[in-house]
Amino acid sequence: MAHAQELSPEEIAGLRARYRAERERRVRPDGTRQYHGADAEFGYYAADPYAPRTTGREPVRDRVDVAVVGGGFGGILAGARLRERGIERVRVVEKGGDFGGTWYWNRYPGIHCDIESHVYLPLLDETGYVPEWKYAPGEEIRRHAVRIAEKFDLRADALFSTAVTSLTWDDTGETWIVTTDRGDRFRATHVVTATGTLTELKLPGIPGIETFRGHTFHTSRWDYGYTGGTPDGGLTGLADKRVGVVGTGATGVQVVPKLAEDAGHLYVFQRTPSSVDVRANRRTSAQDVGADRTGWARERRDNFLRIVSGESAEDDLVADRWTSSAGLLEKLLPSFRRPAGRAGFEAAYEVADAAKMNEIRARVERVVTDPTTAERLKPWYRYACKRPTFSDTYLQAFNRDNVTLVDTADTHGIERVTERGVVVGGTEYALDCLVFATGFSVGVSGVHSGRLPVHGRDGVPLSRARAERGPRSLHGFTSNGFPNLIQLGASQSAASVNFTHVLDEHAVHAAALVAAAEAAGALVEPSPDAEDAWVAALGEGAPDHAWFHAECTPGYYNGEGRGRPNGPTAYPHGAFAFHNLLRRWREESMDEVLRPRATARA
Ligand code: NDP
Repeated sequence: MAHAQELSPEEIAGLRARYRAERERRVRPDGTRQYHGADAEFGYYAADPYAPRTTGREPVRDRVDVAVVGGGFGGILAGARLRERGIERVRVVEKGGDFGGTWYWNRYPGIHCDIESHVYLPLLDETGYVPEWKYAPGEEIRRHAVRIAEKFDLRADALFSTAVTSLTWDDTGETWIVTTDRGDRFRATHVVTATGTLTELKLPGIPGIETFRGHTFHTSRWDYGYTGGTPDGGLTGLADKRVGVVGTGATGVQVVPKLAEDAGHLYVFQRTPSSVDVRANRRTSAQDVGADRTGWARERRDNFLRIVSGESAEDDLVADRWTSSAGLLEKLLPSFRRPAGRAGFEAAYEVADAAKMNEIRARVERVVTDPTTAERLKPWYRYACKRPTFSDTYLQAFNRDNVTLVDTADTHGIERVTERGVVVGGTEYALDCLVFATGFSVGVSGVHSGRLPVHGRDGVPLSRARAERGPRSLHGFTSNGFPNLIQLGASQSAASVNFTHVLDEHAVHAAALVAAAEAAGALVEPSPDAEDAWVAALGEGAPDHAWFHAECTPGYYNGEGRGRPNGPTAYPHGAFAFHNLLRRWREESMDEVLRPRATARA
């Protein structure tokens, strides 16, 4: 395999042509419409397997200082940071049966976080907890979420197995009225939404899917009652079963090795192979990560964010495949910032990208013994087109006699599901169990999706305000006409692969806004001018990346091949710069969003 420096222009052109052809093979005319949610006849896929919903709770009718919608890391961090500011009545409302969000729902065998645990787990300095593995298992992460919630005393007021159904601003009382699907109707001075991004599981719209007679579930609702075992493995219930798994994204890559260990036979139905890089998980000591020093976790987290945001850093404390491949991003970003767009594409990036993907493909060849299987497992697209994955057991699983890779690229995925199994290329694969590792819908949760009705001043629906005025906010958190409503992790802010870090910075910001409003007896509401200025700031230097995603293989990064629109959707200079901007703004300008109340606080 050629090294980066040795790749000739002809080789680069050859790769380009191959990537284009592979993309064409995969694009489907139905785009995002090829999926459906877990509703109507598929509602049972979304049922909570960990906490069956009880009916006995009395509806809540009181008043709190802050209602937090969502009890994942965003909501928990908002609660913790509000408590630090002395806010007393904080009510988290959560659909799941406990805190944890993603880590509550996703408990499939093999689940880990592939972001280093010492930077992913928030509030390590504050809780004194030091993870023992470089990449933590999901259960440890879920327990840490609960640890934070309990340390900051969020449980007593929380409502679990409860979904918020509407948020309505009461102009007279200057409070929010929150209703839920459990008949609750309570008031909150402030509302913080932390509704996550990849929360609604999706299923492929494969013909006949509802006819399957075997056992079936989605990876985010693992049925240990059927499979036996735990997230660590030991799925003894599958010993004599023919198991099919659909999907080879970040989840599929983690779950396949565990299924391979225990299933009688495993069929992996692949449409697009992931890039699977080295993970090198290992035990770490407190000394390894410098956990004997105060503020060690913050320092490490900041260092990681700096590097993966394309900023320079003196040291690389985490030193893993995310930080080493951040050099690719550094090379790619200038291409996005050139007015010439595609024409300004950096040759240096393409060479570095080709070298990285050649390394990934060479690894497949080295590890997988059957050449045909190895060829099918090679990803043919640019590194940033799909979410990279990391595993030291996934590719190896295909060397086992009880594992078969079924490539579905030529038929755009599985053709049909029958009562007995799955049909690909005219062949029926008989199955006892069919597991969907098919991911989540994007942009359907949160107050902006329109699914949760929000009415602001004068009863104006948020969906109408957005349709008439376009998406407008100050820093992505607050909007004119919707006082005391703060959104975490929304658009018009800045994201990063270490999403818990982003959420924590947002939580700190939300708590500062609430505390300032409470101290001043004021409302939090930006002026239209402040929104204009922010939308203009987002437009300055907004990257032109639509052409890049339009050339990528389909997936949720690019609307299933349709491309990703440019526009003022995110702060153009990355999360690290955004957090600094927020800090400065809180010191110098926070008063600009505080508006006098018409009524005195009760
Ligand atoms: P993805 O959306 O990434 O993957 C879905 C998979 O299902 C893809 O391989 C897709 O193929 C396949 N698929 C969909 N429809 C069909 C079909 N009709 N026939 C065959 N295959 C089909 O979901 P994941 O759950 O894997 O990951 C979602 C996100 O969750 C990740 O991107 C990541 O952000 C997060 N995550 C993070 C982890 C971590 O460690 N931090 C671990 C796991 C997930 P195709 O690619 O062709 O569309």
